[in-house]
Amino acid sequence: MIDAKRLQILTEAARFDVSCSSSGSARKNAGGMGNGYAAGLCHSFTPDGRCVSLLKILMSNDCVFACKYCMNRCDLDVPRASATPEEIAELTTDFYKRNYIEGLFLSSAIVKSPNYTMELLLRTVKLLRQTYRFFGYIHVKGIPYADDGLVEEAARYADRMSFNIELPSEKSLKLLAPQKSKEGLLVPMRTLEKKREIFREERPKELFLPAGQTTQLIVGATPETDGAIVRLSERLYRGAKLKRVYYSSYLPMVHDSLLPDRPAGQLREHRLYQADWLLRFYGFTADEIAPEGENLPLDIDPKCAWALRNLQYFPVEVNRAPLELLLRVPGVGGRSADKILKAQRYTRLTFDDLKKMRVVLKRARHFLTADGKYYGAKDLQTVRGLLAVAEQSGTCEQLSLFDHATAYSALTGEF
Ligand code: SF4
Repeated sequence: MIDAKRLQILTEAARFDVSCSSSGSARKNAGGMGNGYAAGLCHSFTPDGRCVSLLKILMSNDCVFACKYCMNRCDLDVPRASATPEEIAELTTDFYKRNYIEGLFLSSAIVKSPNYTMELLLRTVKLLRQTYRFFGYIHVKGIPYADDGLVEEAARYADRMSFNIELPSEKSLKLLAPQKSKEGLLVPMRTLEKKREIFREERPKELFLPAGQTTQLIVGATPETDGAIVRLSERLYRGAKLKRVYYSSYLPMVHDSLLPDRPAGQLREHRLYQADWLLRFYGFTADEIAPEGENLPLDIDPKCAWALRNLQYFPVEVNRAPLELLLRVPGVGGRSADKILKAQRYTRLTFDDLKKMRVVLKRARHFLTADGKYYGAKDLQTVRGLLAVAEQSGTCEQLSLFDHATAYSALTGEF
């Protein structure tokens, strides 16, 4: 049984890994406990946006690597702890039975060697599935430079796996994490994705990482711009077919002359998540979202920023616009765009109708007409100022339970 002191060290050390939320999995209960399929995983988030609903724990924080930004790096004098596969499996099922958790996020520092660590993680997930008959959600960390065979075997028991890229360029990895390389992190991701494809096509009844892969990028520890980060994410989504890229704004936890001594700020992280949403659900390309050498503006969201740079498309007449154009109107989310499209067939929409459809008119009114009527501001400078004010009031005010559009877009991230 794992003792409270080790548990505290191992769970505290895991808190900086944010690549862990679940979007469910295809794993059904086959006569044991848990079910990754029926309800997926309930999420709860701390005020700074981090997911806390899994048992999130490291196998060990006793790392042989020395990434400059990391509390677990080998040259720091911090309390160290490790757990055994049996202890983690027992703890997970114990917590599950008590209704504390609905799944496991298991990561680890690199203990002794990548293969040794991957073997420990593999033994843990295998124990949980085979001995404890646990069918709940499991996200396991992929250990860079471990043998493909070990990684692939773990992928047969886990729902999701993540190799954390951490730093957005080879140059920054060389500087701050010299034992890692971009290719060393990307190659296993690509190999796993190919394997997933093979399983999907040739052995569709067998599970192989049903919830796919994710990764995490630290923002602000190194000089890469948001434009460069969004391009990397685009490659990861479209090339490596990742399910999610998580962004973690840099927090100075360790002093090192190569690291900034100030945090990167939550707002930058938030803007990157918004840009990510545009990439994944709104049909935007990285080129449209931000020039490579620039950061996203902080005062307005990236969809508004794109609209202001492309005023030639606006205002859009909602009664005629196709889906692709509606999705580009700030304040019109995916669901309201669908509703508008359906309504176009049988009615002439007015501003009142749009409000009922959860269109956020404090943004949208500048970029659309409804039945020929325009209620927006007249010139670009005024629009930008008004959008920034609307944004501030949206983030600082208590959300109204009855203002559906605002509450809905805050919950889902729709623009
Ligand atoms: S390998 Fe992971 S745990 Fe080890 S120092 Fe680098 S970031 Fe930290």
